[in-house]
Amino acid sequence: MNDRAPRSARAGFVRQTLTILLIIAAVELIIMAAFSLLPAMPVVLEAVLDALILSALAAPPIWYLVIRPLRNEVRNRELEVEYREEELRAQVTARHMDGQILRALDMAEDESGALSAAERTLRLAFEGNRSEILLADSSMANLRVAATSPRDEGPGCSVTTPAGCPAVRRGHPLTFSSSEDIDACPKLSGRAEGAVSAVCVPVNVLGSAAGVLHATGPDQHPPSRDSIEQLRTLGDALGARLSMLRALSDSQLQAKLDPLTGMLNRRSFQDEVGRITGTGTAYAVVALDLDHFKRINDTHGHATGDQALRVFAGTVQKTVRNTDIVARLGGEEFAVVLPSADATVGARLAERIREELAATVTGGSVPTFTVSAGVADSSQGHDLDTVLETADQALFMAKDAGRDRVHIAGVTVEPAGGGIPDQPSPRVSETHLEQHSRR
Ligand code: GH3
Ligand code: MG
Ligand code: MG
Repeated sequence: MNDRAPRSARAGFVRQTLTILLIIAAVELIIMAAFSLLPAMPVVLEAVLDALILSALAAPPIWYLVIRPLRNEVRNRELEVEYREEELRAQVTARHMDGQILRALDMAEDESGALSAAERTLRLAFEGNRSEILLADSSMANLRVAATSPRDEGPGCSVTTPAGCPAVRRGHPLTFSSSEDIDACPKLSGRAEGAVSAVCVPVNVLGSAAGVLHATGPDQHPPSRDSIEQLRTLGDALGARLSMLRALSDSQLQAKLDPLTGMLNRRSFQDEVGRITGTGTAYAVVALDLDHFKRINDTHGHATGDQALRVFAGTVQKTVRNTDIVARLGGEEFAVVLPSADATVGARLAERIREELAATVTGGSVPTFTVSAGVADSSQGHDLDTVLETADQALFMAKDAGRDRVHIAGVTVEPAGGGIPDQPSPRVSETHLEQHSRR
């Protein structure tokens, strides 16, 4: 088709030239005939006639050699400008879209916000195409569908692990014209809609291939180059935002936790308990303090002391219920809040922790040590600080009574036998608990 166009243009040119020549020849013949009828041709007319003949002879080559190439050049330039204009318009649209994508993701405050912004972008930018976002879970071992467009109607890629996706494995976008092609991704075959085209763009989160944006279209009609570029921008922007949000939540989490034991620190403990007390739920508080802990440091060194703190934290963690709130308040002092519980229930938990610790340290992983506990509940104070202080006073009494025991606030206990500290003495006896329950 491209060959035919110049050939017909050449034929047209030859036709036009012959026509012009014929017209010029005819005009000259008429003029010459007219002048031959005159007795004598004036000199001026003769010169005009010569000029006419000369220009008639020069016109075709001038047209062919100068005007025509110039005209073609102008036409080509016009086409080039038009093409450039179109390209610039597309670039402006793409930049505008890129800006929108980045702004939308920038406004997302959490992962689900980022995913719904990405899903909205997919819906608007790739209208008519079915698309989905697959993201790895925290173990990075499984891929799950995080968003689809149209909603609940994604293309349904069956890939289940990041390693199972060729685009994720290779780390760059892949385009498939047809799922029927020999080199098409095997995960594209067997789709409900039959043969499809597809594009897959990997998403990197915190430097690891953590997911893929996947869009399908009609067979043999994969998304345009511009659409793929936009999908790529979306993949990069989503990955960057998720990285930022995850890093932020990690650091926020770290700020909430005690680095040695991984338990909540005092501040986040207060925040967590505030959520419960805010709803008016009753609760019990157990204040725990390791006995003569200074001796462990002095005798075995600080590192062993740290190890003992970790062992104790583990003992508490495995003894409490999921709903209990546990914290290291500082040094060798810990606290547990039991929602919807009273001091009796709190004392039973404290006793279990004490017994569990005794069983653990006999294993020999750390030097033997014990714990004392004081228990109070929300009926004994109007806020956490007051109840905690009451539990602390009970703890002080447990220490005073000989350590390695649990004491409930407001319950009279026998002083440690003859003022001898650290002698085995009654722990939380049933009588002690009953006494408390009767209050
Ligand atoms: P009591 O039975 O009266 O509670 O005696 P105690 O020795 O446990 O109490 P004291 O308050 O005299 O000493 C607490 C010790 O806990 C002192 C400190 O060195 C140690 N400690 C506090 N925080 C840490 C820690 O993070 N690591 C280690 N290894 N020791 C710590
Ligand atoms: Mg102590
Ligand atoms: Mg202490």
